[in-house]
Amino acid sequence: MTEQAAPTDILDAFGRPLRDLRISVTDRCNFRCRYCMPREVFGPDFEFLPRDQILTFEEIARLGGLFTQLGVRKLRLTGGEPTLRADLPALVAQLREAAPDTDIALTTNGSLLTRLAQPLADAGLDRVTVSLDTLDDAIFRDMNDVEVPVQTVLDGIDAAAAAGLRPVKINAVIKRGVNDHTAVDLARYFKGSGHILRFIEYMDVGATNGWVLDDVVPAAELAERVAAELPIEPVEPSYRGEVARRWRYLDGDGEVGFITSVSAPFCGDCTRARLSADGSLYTCLFAVLGTDLREPLRAGASDEELLDLLRGVWRIRDDRYSELRSAATPDVASLGPRIEMSYIGG
Ligand code: SAM
Ligand code: SF4
Ligand code: SF4
Repeated sequence: MTEQAAPTDILDAFGRPLRDLRISVTDRCNFRCRYCMPREVFGPDFEFLPRDQILTFEEIARLGGLFTQLGVRKLRLTGGEPTLRADLPALVAQLREAAPDTDIALTTNGSLLTRLAQPLADAGLDRVTVSLDTLDDAIFRDMNDVEVPVQTVLDGIDAAAAAGLRPVKINAVIKRGVNDHTAVDLARYFKGSGHILRFIEYMDVGATNGWVLDDVVPAAELAERVAAELPIEPVEPSYRGEVARRWRYLDGDGEVGFITSVSAPFCGDCTRARLSADGSLYTCLFAVLGTDLREPLRAGASDEELLDLLRGVWRIRDDRYSELRSAATPDVASLGPRIEMSYIGG
């Protein structure tokens, strides 16, 4: 896909603009999803970031505003579980003020949305993505490993829709032998609901989830399984960097997406950067080294100095981990260590 570049846009080493910033607002979570924060690693002794190392709302809002000057059009709050951050609506309000024309979204496990959806919408949130991997209660409780029932998340999705955060996107990570046999049920449930379900291939993020390629159900296989029961046809991507392959139901009952990070990497169109909760900038989900923004922020750097720093980081960006992984699989360890998703923000 091609797209007109604006004069303020910066391009990385492969000509990719910076369009998307994912902001992790906390590294903590009230779930212990086995594929993300397994409790054997994230147990009672795990040391999360101390409060003074986490960016303040003012710092996040300032950075959000600066990023939009470099071409960012979408800010997404994530984590960890972003709704655990106290007074999240106040952060959304500050971001809205710093970036009035920018799309502000949230990715959440949905467990606290019944209470928070309306205040978040009132503060200026545009959209929400809720993670829900299965409708089978026993499997869901086992996957989140904290016994949260499916109904809590479904109530959160309803609250988001009622607050006007529509369409709600639903993210479902599919792991072979764990929840793949329940994927078609998920599709059937959300078909015609006005929400958009996206299946995500289980990824080798971080070093703690014991990823092996056999656990991945390739999107093509999953699409076939869905199509066998609910006829679908592919839709053209709507913008550069759109990560989900979209399919529409032939009977007009909406769409379903497939995020093919493992089977068909999309690095060539990757326009995202990630800001960790403690203020480091990462240019790839699989990056090992970030650039510390907190230090210059707290040392009194001017907007122009910060913008220069951000431009410098993006211009030399040459990340394409997923493409390299495709070439290296199954020996992914040869690509070196990786940062945990709960830290860098999914
Ligand atoms: N806690 C929030 C949530 O679960 O939506 C936001 C952070 S979470 C890290 C963001 C997304 O990453 C979720 O949709 C989650 O399912 C996904 N995720 C986590 N680990 C993953 C993995 N190993 N492979 C694919 N997706 C993963
Ligand atoms: Fe928490 Fe989200 Fe990771 Fe699950 S996927 S452990 S909800 S951060
Ligand atoms: Fe973007 Fe890195 Fe993912 Fe490739 S591997 S799509 S560069 S985040």
